[in-house]
Amino acid sequence: MEYSIEKMISETQIEERIKELAKMIESDYAGKELVCVGLLKGSIMFMADLLKRIELNLSMDFMKVSSYHGGTDSTGVVQILKDVDSSLEEKEVLIIEDIIDTGLTLETVKKFLATKKPNSIKVCSLLDKPSRRKVDIEGEYIGFEIPDEFVIGYGLDYDEMYRNLPYIAKVVKR
Ligand code: 5GP
Repeated sequence: MEYSIEKMISETQIEERIKELAKMIESDYAGKELVCVGLLKGSIMFMADLLKRIELNLSMDFMKVSSYHGGTDSTGVVQILKDVDSSLEEKEVLIIEDIIDTGLTLETVKKFLATKKPNSIKVCSLLDKPSRRKVDIEGEYIGFEIPDEFVIGYGLDYDEMYRNLPYIAKVVKR
């Protein structure tokens, strides 16, 4: 496919929004036992930058799920490829996600994590494409709402490339 990339959200915009999200999370979780569960690999940049800004004692864990097998289309099948390592019992769980699209991934992950008996499960996602939703699910902390575009950068890939871009760009087919 012939395509070009167009910058959509700058490094500075991401940085500023992260500071705001971090402050909200900090005040909501003060005094609680917070476990941040990042969904690999897309959330790594966001998780690293966000958590550095949160002045709380928290722990980090990771899950890997897969619904996209390269390319830009969802298969709709969500597989759990890696579970968390730590116990979540009676903890406050905050799932860190790169983007909420159909919502199918988060629905599966939330149900899966709920079986581990945490006190709460909330979602923090850098990006949200509400127009694409197939299930009724919302994130409690959202960086940016975006239109129905395929985006890359800042952790998000296109066939495993572009995750290292410091900004978010959209892929434009030619
Ligand atoms: P959902 O299950 O909500 O449809 O999809 C969530 C996952 O699909 C995200 O974690 C991400 O891996 C992938 N995804 C959805 N939209 C995009 C997009 O615009 N760009 C990229 N690179 N991945 C996306």
